Amino acid sequence: MTRYLAPLLASVALFASLPQSAHAELDVPALKAKIETSLESDYPRLDALYKDIHAHPEIAFQEEKTAAKLAAEMRALGFEVTEHVGKTGVVALFRNGDGPTIMVRTELDALPMEEKTGLPYASHDKAIWHGRETFVDHSCGHDIHMASWVGAAKTLVGLKDQWHGTLMFIAQPAEEEVAGAKAMLADGLFTRFPKPDVGFALHDGPGAYGTIFYRVGVGSSTADGLFIRFHGRGGHGATPQATIDPVMMASRFVVDVQSVISREKDPTEFGVISVGAIHGGTAGNIIPDEALLVGTIRTFKPEVRAKMLAGIERTAKAVAAMADAPAPDIQIEEGAKAVMNDPAVVATAEKVLKAAFGDKFRTSPPGTPSEDYSEFVNAGVPSMFFNIGVYEPERVAAARNGTGPQLPGNHSPLFAPVPKPTIETGVEAMTLAVLSAFDQRAPGH
Ligand SMILES: [Zn+2]
Ligand SMILES: [Zn+2]
Repeated sequence: MTRYLAPLLASVALFASLPQSAHAELDVPALKAKIETSLESDYPRLDALYKDIHAHPEIAFQEEKTAAKLAAEMRALGFEVTEHVGKTGVVALFRNGDGPTIMVRTELDALPMEEKTGLPYASHDKAIWHGRETFVDHSCGHDIHMASWVGAAKTLVGLKDQWHGTLMFIAQPAEEEVAGAKAMLADGLFTRFPKPDVGFALHDGPGAYGTIFYRVGVGSSTADGLFIRFHGRGGHGATPQATIDPVMMASRFVVDVQSVISREKDPTEFGVISVGAIHGGTAGNIIPDEALLVGTIRTFKPEVRAKMLAGIERTAKAVAAMADAPAPDIQIEEGAKAVMNDPAVVATAEKVLKAAFGDKFRTSPPGTPSEDYSEFVNAGVPSMFFNIGVYEPERVAAARNGTGPQLPGNHSPLFAPVPKPTIETGVEAMTLAVLSAFDQRAPGH
């Protein structure tokens, strides 16, 4: 009797699970082929857009022309577009029946630095930034993100018989200043417009093009700004006994604070303190009154962050006490929070992207830079933030095994993505990720 019961129960269980599993399967090979056909005709336009944006980059909160270019592209695709959300941000909506709202974000801003790639479409543009003239360069690759964003929008509109719901494409200003996401939220991003059910963003980096890197959980670091002012007593450099030397205190702090990393923090946990600037004094023979030290603190976990902040404060106070100086002013400026990738969103996209890209879709450890996409996650949008490579796979392999030169990363004046395969991968991966989310959250699923 029991011998017959087991197979019978198994088939009942299979039958009971049919409605869900029958719905959930996207035909990935067929979709991939459709996306690639659409890209063949769309790419020249995306290439021209990319090179135009690259040659004319704009700095944080000045991205007027860049935003206008994206707004025009999205209007031409039939999106309902609102500009100037959070100063220069763009919100583009495409409604296609009942269903979830899926958000895709790009950044708009470039960096205050000079491009040295020598590319035919290199930027020679300048801008006024904090009162000073500076060159501007898309050296973080946000131009690749914008071209992929427009490309994915075009492809998704072309595939609108495959999904139902609302596409919410947003272009945010000032990612590099960790201020643009907050500005859009403060300007009613999720009250004037629908609050998305799921969100996606991508970032490029110096890996091989065609490769996609992802992870569940922590995706980028928490960044805090560090400002310490050491107060001393100024005087003649030849009579140090009459002074309290703040340059000495700052120097000692820079060295001693690294023992918070090496001796107090768990060595298996990520944490970095870097001091990028020390301001103090004017001449070699004058001991100044004070010295200001500016740094950055990067962590993944709140408990590691708390431990490091406590260690920094103790070290700074101890350094001042050793010199018999007044207590220093210590200021921690909260920057970007870590981006947390949602396990369910990643699991759904993972199935589809694995089927499309095979072993070129890989897990990776979290990145140590920071990202204000975390603002959207913390505002309640379960998300997936993933990375794509930009260089020829052979050059990446040669750099890795030491037979070729190191490749310039983001924020280098030599950062030079190979546009076509990078943008095509961005479009394809983003389109499939969005389709997976629509499918997963479809009504009745
Ligand atoms: Zn950057
Ligand atoms: Zn960036």
